[in-house]
Amino acid sequence: MLEEVAAAPVWVGRMGEGMRVVLLGPPGAGKGTQADRIAARFQLVHLATGDILRANVADGTPLGEVAQAYLDSGELVPDEVVVAMMLERLTQPDCAHGFLLDGFPRSVAQARALDEHLAELGAPLDAAINLEVAEEELLQRLAGRGRADDNARTVRNRLQVFASSTRPLLDYYAGQGVLFSVAAAGTIDEVSERILHAPRDVSVNDAGGGSSWP
Ligand code: ADP
Repeated sequence: MLEEVAAAPVWVGRMGEGMRVVLLGPPGAGKGTQADRIAARFQLVHLATGDILRANVADGTPLGEVAQAYLDSGELVPDEVVVAMMLERLTQPDCAHGFLLDGFPRSVAQARALDEHLAELGAPLDAAINLEVAEEELLQRLAGRGRADDNARTVRNRLQVFASSTRPLLDYYAGQGVLFSVAAAGTIDEVSERILHAPRDVSVNDAGGGSSWP
C-alpha cells in the first residue's frame, strides 16, 4: 500500500476532453501552435489572451485603446483589465466543456482570480503545462516571427516581464500539484508528443527520493 502511494504520479490530472488547462511558457515558446493542436485534439475552447487583446486593438474597442500601449511596450496589460476580460469570456456556455488558456494567467494575481472563479464553479484546473525553452532559442524564434511587438526592445522587455511576473506561476501551480513541464525544443510534432505523454511519464515524488523516473 505504501509503495502504491509512493509510486503515484506527481500530476494525477486527466489529459482529455473536457479538461481545463493553462499553457505556460515564455514568449516564443510555441504556446499558440501547441495550444491549437491540443485544443483541436480534445475539442477544447482555445482562448489566446494576446489574440483577443490584438483583436480589440484592431477593432478600436475601448479595451483595445487601453491595451495598445502595453502591447507595444511588452508590459502586461493591468491585471484587473485582463482578469475581467477573461473571466467574462470563461462564463460563456462553450467554456463549460473544457478550455485551454494560452497567455492567461500571466501573474500570480491573475492565477488567484482564475482559481477563485473556477472554485465558485466547482471546476478547478486539471493541468498547467509549462513549455520550457532556452533563452537563446527564444530570441532566435522571436526574431524570425515579425509580429509588431517582436522588435528587439519589446522582446527584451517581454522576456523580463515573463521572468519577473509569470515565472512565479510555476511555483504556484507546482504547489497545487497540477504543473508539468515539457521541453519545447525540437519539432512541433515532437513537442506535441511530449505534451500528450507528459502526464503518464511524470513519476513520483522526487522530493521523497523518487526512484522511479522512467
Ligand atoms: P507572447 O506569448 O509571444 O508574448 P501574447 O500574444 O501571448 O504573446 O502576448 C502579447 C502581449 O499581450 C503581451 O506582451 C502583453 O502585453 C499582452 N498580454 C497577453 N496576455 C496577457 C495577460 N494575461 N496579462 C496581461 N497582458 C497580457
